[in-house]
Amino acid sequence: MAHTILTINAGSSSLKFALFAGNGERLHKGAFEIGALSHDDAMRELLAQITSLGLPAFTAAGHRVVHGGQHFTSPVRVNDDILTALEKLTPLAPLHQPHNLHPITALKKLMPNLPQVACFDTAFHATQSATTRRYALPRALEAEGVKRYGFHGLSYEYIAQKLAQLDPAAADRRVIVAHLGNGASLCAMRHGKSIDTTLGFSALDGLVMGTRCGTLDPEIVLYLQREKGMSIETIEDLLYRRSGLLGVSGISSDMRELQASEETSAKEAVELFVFRAVREMGALIASLGGLDDLVFTAGIGEHSATIRSQISKGIGWLGASIDEAANLRATTVINTEESAVNLWMIPTDEEAMIARHTAAVIA
Ligand code: ADP
Repeated sequence: MAHTILTINAGSSSLKFALFAGNGERLHKGAFEIGALSHDDAMRELLAQITSLGLPAFTAAGHRVVHGGQHFTSPVRVNDDILTALEKLTPLAPLHQPHNLHPITALKKLMPNLPQVACFDTAFHATQSATTRRYALPRALEAEGVKRYGFHGLSYEYIAQKLAQLDPAAADRRVIVAHLGNGASLCAMRHGKSIDTTLGFSALDGLVMGTRCGTLDPEIVLYLQREKGMSIETIEDLLYRRSGLLGVSGISSDMRELQASEETSAKEAVELFVFRAVREMGALIASLGGLDDLVFTAGIGEHSATIRSQISKGIGWLGASIDEAANLRATTVINTEESAVNLWMIPTDEEAMIARHTAAVIA
């Protein structure tokens, strides 16, 4: 039987959902602001909305769950034991994991027999080598889970599948996907699998993000504590919510606003975003031993021709050459014929990936 699948992507401030038919067609999507509504209320509203719109009842639900820890390296059907195991991973992602798990519990109360599947942002990176995932810290810390995980895995997996459809030979080439949204990271892929990525233990590493700092010298955290007497909560707020594009510009975390602004600090924030993306790309190019394809995706990657152009120019030394007219039109292929690197703009779809995984797990 083909299932109708509900996908849920719940964060601290919003709960996004979508309904997919058995053939993968998206039937409906919506969002709720959390805070005004509890997760329980949001789930009741969601069910009411689906009924009142005359949409088909869903027969399974798939959830985006940020962290699968060391153990969950592929999507899994949730039962009580698994839910407990996932709750135990909260220390690895305290700002996200509880919000991802609440809807599972809320839905279970309303529909106890509904198959529910957890799809992890970390899972796609489980193919990376032990060396890639290791920090140069005392080994005991690694054993308890202090290692590089990487995130945005559902987006990367979707792009890997899409790229293979668009160009079956691409999978055997050296590919970097740039997921540039509010959260941003790069993923180096070979044969459709992740071999390196810029996010590590948490969602703070790597690129400059909307409000997150990206790569930082860890001594800065000690300095903030020692010299400025900042508490853990204050430092957490600074690194996650007051840094990145917002922190550097002092204006906004939104790339559109910064690009429209005449302020020097806005231009400097955008400049740093591009500089760091190119610099991190250099590291992933070394991991891959070269670069054949670069894919831009997510909010900034899909919509900002300027950022695509600036980043592509940053790897001009590799022979990458962007076709500015195609780039402005935002076609799928945006490189010139002479370019030594294939440049792509491919919209991502994490919800479609969750629906695919959920269908496969319950099949
Ligand atoms: P999230 O990580 O929250 O899913 P998105 O992938 O939607 O975020 O990306 C949001 C980012 O995309 C914001 O910085 C926003 O300014 C940027 N963005 C969206 N449209 C454009 C545009 N036309 N030009 C530049 N940036 C854009």
